[in-house]
Amino acid sequence: MQKTIGYAAHNQNSPLVPFNFERRDLTATDVQIEILYCGVCHSDIHQVRNEWGNSVFPMVPGHEIVGKVSQVGSKVTAFKIGDAVGVGCMVNSCRVCPDCQDHLEQFCNAAEFTYNWPDKHLGGSHYGGYSTQIVVDQDFVLYVSDKLELAAVAPLLCAGITTYSPLRHWKVGRGDKVGIVGLGGLGHMGLKFAHALGAHVVLFTTNPAKIEDGKRLGADEVVLSNHSDQMQQHLAGFDFILDTVSAPHSLDAYTALLKRDGTLCLVGLPDHPHPSPSVGNLIFKRRRIVGSLIGGIQETQEMLDFCAENSITSDIEIIPIQQINEAFERVLKSDVKYRFVIDLASLKS
Ligand code: NAP
Ligand code: ZN
Ligand code: ZN
Repeated sequence: MQKTIGYAAHNQNSPLVPFNFERRDLTATDVQIEILYCGVCHSDIHQVRNEWGNSVFPMVPGHEIVGKVSQVGSKVTAFKIGDAVGVGCMVNSCRVCPDCQDHLEQFCNAAEFTYNWPDKHLGGSHYGGYSTQIVVDQDFVLYVSDKLELAAVAPLLCAGITTYSPLRHWKVGRGDKVGIVGLGGLGHMGLKFAHALGAHVVLFTTNPAKIEDGKRLGADEVVLSNHSDQMQQHLAGFDFILDTVSAPHSLDAYTALLKRDGTLCLVGLPDHPHPSPSVGNLIFKRRRIVGSLIGGIQETQEMLDFCAENSITSDIEIIPIQQINEAFERVLKSDVKYRFVIDLASLKS
């Protein structure tokens, strides 16, 4: 067992505080990673505050992990000490079910998520990336290009794949008019990917102060979603809309903007349900509302390679871990451009 330090929440009302725990000794197929950076996802806040009702404490959050391989098990062939690597939202799955066979491990009934999830090796819960090191089976470790700034790669492991995967699955590309709703961690990656895939991209934001950044990040147009006159101008105009908003809101405003057979894809997962959507909006133009969950390991690697080829990373603000509780408050106020990333050197010194 290997002594590790992280930051943990001990209940849903307490701040994150330093926490000592142990990582397992490596099995033959395990990779040990010295964590250098970890992104701060809104899902970390939802879970620390038990907003999804499934939280187990103590909880060490963090599923946007990048670092360097520090040790490998005897049967690890894919990685060697010193390699730059990443770990996202999953650390294991069954490998044999239809979802795993289709490289969609996120839907496997036995998928193990990176934290706040039962740890089959040690009992208790998995502990995430707000910590100095992690031990993960080699099949759930991703290669990271040394062409990209490592800290700015961290958010690709969740915010990146969560926006890349639905854009690819619903075949967004040149000639499509695509909406991205919400300019936060996920939304700013959605803008970059939709733009890189050649779509005409429209950002929907509630905040006029984000208009210029929206354009810089890839939007061809920016619509203030709380101005109904601006929304009306886009009625029945979109092929695909990706909704990243972390709070409950009316979906009708967006289904009305879809063309016939258009798709509204929800990736934001608020603490309370959205108001029930209008059925009329759906049936009259055969529109659909769908959801999407992160992406499989193979597709996550494809996304990281796409980012390396197209020089895409996240726009980040680096913080020491001692500022994590303040960072959570700032995310809730949408006061971050556009992802906090923890520099884990702050926990080692
Ligand atoms: P974030 O950085 O906080 O961004 C959320 C954005 O939503 C905000 O920037 C804001 O955009 C908008 N927003 C927030 N409150 C709003 C409100 N009351 N009304 C309208 N718009 C509001 O969060 P994130 O890290 O991108 O995560 C977004 C959501 O996705 C969270 O619920 C998270 O748990 C979920 N998530 C899902 C998956 C998945 O696999 N499906 C993966 C990761 C995260 P504007 O200021 O531009 O309006
Ligand atoms: Zn996340
Ligand atoms: Zn499976």
